[in-house]
Amino acid sequence: MAPPKRQITLKDVQACLSANSTLPYSRLLRELVTTNANSPLKCTPKTAGRFGSVMVTLTKQSPFRYTLKTVSTPARVRDVLLNELETHKEKDPSARFCCPHINDSTDAMSDEDTAKHLINQLPHPTFTAPHCIPDLPCPYLDGISSFPEDDTCSFPAIQTMLSTSVLPAGTPIPLQHQNESTAYCTLLVGSIVWMVWPPTRENLTALQTAYDSCSANPSSAGSILDETAKRLIGGVTFVHNVGEVMRLPPFCIILGQAMKMSAVCKYSVVDASRIVPTLKMLPFIRSWWLMDGAGIERRTKFGSALLDVVEEILNGAFETFKAEEYSVLGAEQRKGVLTDLLEAWDDIIHGFMGILTAERANELKEMMKELLEMVGGVAVTCAICRTSTGMGASLSDHFDNEHWPRSGAGIVEQTLPVDDDNDAVGQFPAGPATLPPSHQG
Ligand SMILES: [Zn+2]
Repeated sequence: MAPPKRQITLKDVQACLSANSTLPYSRLLRELVTTNANSPLKCTPKTAGRFGSVMVTLTKQSPFRYTLKTVSTPARVRDVLLNELETHKEKDPSARFCCPHINDSTDAMSDEDTAKHLINQLPHPTFTAPHCIPDLPCPYLDGISSFPEDDTCSFPAIQTMLSTSVLPAGTPIPLQHQNESTAYCTLLVGSIVWMVWPPTRENLTALQTAYDSCSANPSSAGSILDETAKRLIGGVTFVHNVGEVMRLPPFCIILGQAMKMSAVCKYSVVDASRIVPTLKMLPFIRSWWLMDGAGIERRTKFGSALLDVVEEILNGAFETFKAEEYSVLGAEQRKGVLTDLLEAWDDIIHGFMGILTAERANELKEMMKELLEMVGGVAVTCAICRTSTGMGASLSDHFDNEHWPRSGAGIVEQTLPVDDDNDAVGQFPAGPATLPPSHQG
């Protein structure tokens, strides 16, 4: 099957929206693609420059090359996904798949039956439904896929298993941020129109304000997010077709709509170099959690996953030098994730503390002390603030006094709402998984 022509001009996107003008998000998308604030993906280098060093790419060839060979028709995708569903249900009988959630005791069809029904409709492009499957784990597809090598991810620290979203025609993907990972999304069936905005400070501030407003007015969340989308700057739009892969960098802001019955499989990777920027983003992530009703359990799970990588960083797993050499290296030679972490320490530690259990916070404290002692050198220099404490002084004491929060250390706030049903979208990330329309308008 020859790959379809790429649809990355404004004319392509407008034609696609006009052909499906009655779908819920077509009007909003038409408004967004025609404003001067945004452009088609096929744009001038100057316009693309609005993304800075972050580039959204759309490549024809899927990185999951074996996947596409195996699941080349909608009927084949259907059969594969029905098996994945079955496998997952056997492994975890309490697993739920549909969004919005189905209450099995009162709804006519169970969650599992609804999910099966959705998958069975994959060969029918115009099928619409109020439900979608945001994140179906796909161990079989994962096993037969080969993942991309990407020079923007030199130290893959966390990788997710392949999962698939099943989105009936017209499913809106409301305004949301891509989490801290880089995601690779290959369309297996259907067609999706996307708007992707760069994660600039202005755009992220607007989105954080929107998340806060949504928390305060949950019933107006849909319209708050739609109106916020109109204020974002520098987005690019395109039609995502079968066989193409969208590479989405961390914290980009997305909005989209499935134009046909669609299935998109995705894979995410968090590079070690993204851990410090993610820790700096915790206030933003906190706003998302509040809107999403994420409770203590989900937040400390996230903190724990981050800490696992932080410990690797402190152990020098991503450096070419040994810790003992640190004090004699020049600034240039020291560059890397360990130095990034040490330099950012005072800014990030308070936020980080808020998502660690007391036990894990203590683990971090002891590790930091050990590291500082090791890299202090003969001048006994603190690697965080570059102060020399002088011979005989203890860097551990200095750390306790200067770089460890005095009060509330390791105490996770207990006042936030408990986890709701969102666990069904099982994921590492802070933010939404790449595609689930967790909050349909
Ligand atoms: Zn210091």
